[in-house]
Amino acid sequence: MSLTTVLQSIADYALPARCAICGVSVETDNRFCLACWEKLDFLTRPWCAACGLPFVFERADGSLCAKCLVDRPIHDGVRAVVRYDDSSSLIAMRLKYGTRLGLARLIAEHLQKFAHEYSDDPIIIPVPLHRSRLWTRGFNQSVLIGRELARATGIDMNYNLISRCKMTPPLRGMSGAQRGKIVASAFKLGADADKQLAGKSVLLVDDVYTSGSTSNACARLLKKAGALNIFVFCWARVIKDFEAS
Ligand SMILES: [Zn+2]
Ligand SMILES: [Zn+2]
Repeated sequence: MSLTTVLQSIADYALPARCAICGVSVETDNRFCLACWEKLDFLTRPWCAACGLPFVFERADGSLCAKCLVDRPIHDGVRAVVRYDDSSSLIAMRLKYGTRLGLARLIAEHLQKFAHEYSDDPIIIPVPLHRSRLWTRGFNQSVLIGRELARATGIDMNYNLISRCKMTPPLRGMSGAQRGKIVASAFKLGADADKQLAGKSVLLVDDVYTSGSTSNACARLLKKAGALNIFVFCWARVIKDFEAS
């Protein structure tokens, strides 16, 4: 048992379990109270086969939303647990800034149901952070989620196949095209990426899916190295009001 695990067990024993969003006492730590659970907008089918945008009305499997019909993303689907909103963003922020690392396990438990759709020996790849950001923060939240997902499903994770070679400025407020241009050259493949990726399906793990430009940039490279399909696995997906279809 590692020191972290021991300390975590002591903390679990000493502190009452709290709702991961509002902090009221609950039976098990890193769960939600009923009120917060009901507020979360869990995403379910039918959704766009490429970007995961939920459809209001039933459509055939494989249907695309209006945006993807015009400009289909390189990745082959998005599996997001919830819609990005005030409640779900709290979870993402607390994981990202390290106050509640157990949240990675909670997110992975929700993503696990999607992973069972892939029986073709896929590989989990977390979206990489730039090295300097890793040094300041101490960890990559996507690796934490990926590691827990690997543990829960038995699917291998590899975080050396792709790395972030360029720091990118905050993308908030930029158009999809601007974001795409900025992140296009931000990633590079690891030394033996093609050997590991040939013919593989990739579960590309991220915390939040915003415009898809980051996952698309990763997907482009991973496919260049021979990966067959790229499915984005994330906690929350941003859905703008005008997008809901
Ligand atoms: Zn709560
Ligand atoms: Zn779409």
